[in-house]
Amino acid sequence: MRKKLVAGNWKMHGSLVQNKELLDAVITGTAGMRKGSCVVCVPYPYLSSVQSMLENTQIAWGAQNVNQFSKGAYTGEVSAEMLKDFDCQYVIVGHSERRSLFGEDSHTVSLKFTASQNSGLMPILCVGETLQQRETGAMEKVIAEQLDAVIDQAGVASLSKAVIAYEPVWAIGTGKTASPQQAQEVHALIRGSIARHDEGVAADLTILYGGSVKANNAAELFAMPDIDGGLIGGASLIAEDFVAICRAGQD
Ligand code: PEP
Repeated sequence: MRKKLVAGNWKMHGSLVQNKELLDAVITGTAGMRKGSCVVCVPYPYLSSVQSMLENTQIAWGAQNVNQFSKGAYTGEVSAEMLKDFDCQYVIVGHSERRSLFGEDSHTVSLKFTASQNSGLMPILCVGETLQQRETGAMEKVIAEQLDAVIDQAGVASLSKAVIAYEPVWAIGTGKTASPQQAQEVHALIRGSIARHDEGVAADLTILYGGSVKANNAAELFAMPDIDGGLIGGASLIAEDFVAICRAGQD
């Protein structure tokens, strides 16, 4: 049985002081929730302090990106093994901001996915369409290309050790949320396309919705049959909101 998950994506926000304040409140607010049901994906420089604050709590942590190579002359990059040194459990791969602002294509994302799994990290693979792609009827093709790159590279069984996040690009950070029905439709489509490769993998796969999830719309979204929680940007920086979303994401 798949379990619900709520993952916060802090993006390039925070400071040592702000992080402590935020996490103290999140730790208190999520007391008693299922261990590992909430995750925060933080900027690299804070991994050590976040690890110290979160070990022995119910909250898991991870990073927002990883390099596909294990080591070498890749100035400024961070490997999956390095993330494991800080006991990260998760890493986001293929976030639309990485794809659009930093030129990551689906093949590179698939290599990052594999590198993460080879080091024992659980990749949170982001897929999703732009507004133009949705309006021109290309949504299904775009998402299939993003998923197939990983399935071709790593095999469908690799998805049993991964999480998928459906994030319509037009809903990220815009305050426009896909309606629960719109999101459910795409989640069912994703699960269905994976089921064509392997029904068991598809049935057990956690598929998160991301795109302006807030405290006041999380419960409705997470109640849909194929939505197994959320990937949360802006609202993960506000303790009260993130805690409320984590509560909505309890099984
Ligand atoms: C995200 O960063 O993945 C995201 C979904 O952001 P927001 O919740 O702010 O739309």
